Amino acid sequence: MYPKLIINLKKLEDNLNACATITKDHGKCSLMIVTKGLCADKEMVKMVAENPNVDFIADSRVKNIAGFADTARANGKKTVLLRIPMHCEVAEVVKYVDLSFNSELSTIRLLNEEAAKVGKVHDILLMIDLGDLREGIFFQNQELIYEAVEEILKMENVNLYGIGVNLTCYGAIIPKNENLSQLVAIARDLEAKYGIKLEMVSGGNSSSIYLVDKGELPEGINNLRLGESFLLGNDTAYETKLPGTVSDGLILQAQIIELKEKPSLPIGEVGVDAFGEKPYYEDRGIMKRAIIGIGKQDTDLGSMTPCDPQVEIMGGSSDHIILDVTHCDREYKVGDIVEFELGYGGMLKTATSPYVEKDYIK
Ligand SMILES: *Cc1c(COP(=O)(O)O)cnc(C)c1O
Repeated sequence: MYPKLIINLKKLEDNLNACATITKDHGKCSLMIVTKGLCADKEMVKMVAENPNVDFIADSRVKNIAGFADTARANGKKTVLLRIPMHCEVAEVVKYVDLSFNSELSTIRLLNEEAAKVGKVHDILLMIDLGDLREGIFFQNQELIYEAVEEILKMENVNLYGIGVNLTCYGAIIPKNENLSQLVAIARDLEAKYGIKLEMVSGGNSSSIYLVDKGELPEGINNLRLGESFLLGNDTAYETKLPGTVSDGLILQAQIIELKEKPSLPIGEVGVDAFGEKPYYEDRGIMKRAIIGIGKQDTDLGSMTPCDPQVEIMGGSSDHIILDVTHCDREYKVGDIVEFELGYGGMLKTATSPYVEKDYIK
């Protein structure tokens, strides 16, 4: 059945190993593979869990982690929760997550209480915000960092495993030697001040990996968390391809349901489209237009690229996408399958949509 997401586990594993060469061999960092971009797909997680290069398996959603915690732990990998926990989910966090990222003392206190209740010690990574302005204690508020660390160190059932930063997500700030060195400096300061050892200083996501081969990843950063670079082969700081990776490990297939010659300009008064937006049309004369059976409910039109370079995406609505196939050498027919490579948004939505089937190449 279509639409279908073809997940090539062989290619994803090659991508993973290419990322591991950079991160572990060249960068001397531990490798945390992030599964949320593909909605923690079970087959993908199994491949990741069985790969000896992987040290941690991370996701932003506790529900996804609950689904793979057994597989991960059975293969000796720790599970990691990337998104700061909600108060309502601390019981699930302590149960399924081995290391959670945190920035709020009120939440860490709840984790401590819950861990005590079930007789565990829960590891946390304290997030520091170096200027991207998403999660973390703001790096210039040194007193707030000290205050948090002092209270955490007194907790019996929470262990301060390390500190970390996230960049290039909200503020689109690019990781550099300069800002990541500030994270290392904070780690060394905390270790000296409190006589502790921080196991992990986590230097960011797929936007940090480019620093390794430039020789600019500061010494002291000892972990990277990679999702997009492993799934799509992208260095997300400067949008280059990482050596040894491919971008077609995931292919979206959709079926043509209508194919007709029509004008390129709609006829009648122009109002707003299905999403309340005023469309813009270019007059290209009579066109050959194909409609495929997938829409904005299942994918992101701006984050998918036709594998046939002569196909152009015109637009779409909730359940339809219209393609211009006027200039294609291939004679498309109703019932034919059109293929797309995906960007991050397209991958996320297709992997999440219950209307998109999944198929695997092993
Ligand atoms: C999503 C996420 C990642 C992974 O990001 P990619 O760009 O896909 O590598 C890493 N860390 C945190 C905190 C995240 O939320």
